[in-house]
Amino acid sequence: MELPIADPGTERGEGVLLQCTYCDSEAMHKLAQLLLPGLAAVCVDSTTGDLFRKPSLVAVELRKEMVDYIMQRSNTFIADAFIESEANQETENEMPEDPLEIISIFMDDFSSTKRNIIGHVSGWLLSDSREDKIDDFLEEMEMTRFWPMERREAIAEVLLKNVDIKVKFHCPEKYENEERLSDHKEQCTFKPITCPNDGCRAKVSIRCIEAHDADCPFKVLQCEQNCEKRLLRRDMDRHCVTVCPMRPTKCPFGCDASFPERDLEKHCSEFLQAHLFKVLKVIHKKWHTEEDLKELAQKLEKYDEHGKLAKAWDARPLTNIVKDLEAKMKDEQSSEQGDDPRSNLSNDVSGLFIGDASQGDLFFLCALKRKMDARIISELFPDLPELQK
Ligand SMILES: [Zn+2]
Ligand SMILES: [Zn+2]
Ligand SMILES: [Zn+2]
Ligand SMILES: [Zn+2]
Repeated sequence: MELPIADPGTERGEGVLLQCTYCDSEAMHKLAQLLLPGLAAVCVDSTTGDLFRKPSLVAVELRKEMVDYIMQRSNTFIADAFIESEANQETENEMPEDPLEIISIFMDDFSSTKRNIIGHVSGWLLSDSREDKIDDFLEEMEMTRFWPMERREAIAEVLLKNVDIKVKFHCPEKYENEERLSDHKEQCTFKPITCPNDGCRAKVSIRCIEAHDADCPFKVLQCEQNCEKRLLRRDMDRHCVTVCPMRPTKCPFGCDASFPERDLEKHCSEFLQAHLFKVLKVIHKKWHTEEDLKELAQKLEKYDEHGKLAKAWDARPLTNIVKDLEAKMKDEQSSEQGDDPRSNLSNDVSGLFIGDASQGDLFFLCALKRKMDARIISELFPDLPELQK
């Protein structure tokens, strides 16, 4: 395909002026990106419903037609805009100034001339199956490098300069000779440089580098929620809602509190009694009064010698630990109350007989250890009557 050539310069006196060729690299790149999906849509729309033609069969021909069409429209764009504004002096000029919008309009106009019968059936243009077909064909063209980026950029450069009515996107400078032109190009603010952010391959005009930097996905930034982390702008949103220790979190037990996620542990240990109360209320439903439950919550916390309760940061694990502890407490109580205290005592005492303690010492130790009723002692040890008194 032959590429159109940019305006070589303007006649002035006897010589030709040489124009600086630099333009806004990012705008040019975006324009080049626009061309491929535009072509994909035209190819799909013009072949849908036709059993004998596939998008890939018409792509070469339509690419040439499309480029000729938008190039021709862009060539006369400034003159057309001028005539139009002369004609409608009172009304606002309808044409946008953004080159991307202008070229999109040209491509839409071209595309509407290429739709076949099905393409005109209402609903088709907005249908998902049209979108899918366009996406598939776009992918196919990218895979086969049907229309490589470098070639699209060359066309985009010309288009950009042609429609840049306010001279915002390309350098208008012209010089008498090569030497002066190259001196200028060294300092030209449209000169493209590669974005200095690691991983970013964008080519950006020097004058636009600040704006690009403020938006560059590869810029390293401090976490927006002020955790310690520094990360790429493109990873920021995901970080802030998934792993950032500063992400706002609500109490999992339903307290009316919200705090940074990293304070969850602190909150759970500070409000353990309140959380226990809520969990116990669910476990025991209506069988206990609020006072009972509060008392039980305190008992459980005291009984929990390894501090497991404070480490449960959600309702389910806390419920499980509470149930475990309650079961253990119950077991201990029943083994204390249910078994015959005499047999317990005799076990204790038989252990003490191994040493060489006196009987008085023995009784004292036993009574102290089991806090037992002296009556049971006298039944067990009828030969210690005087020690009971
Ligand atoms: Zn320049
Ligand atoms: Zn960048
Ligand atoms: Zn963070
Ligand atoms: Zn809470």
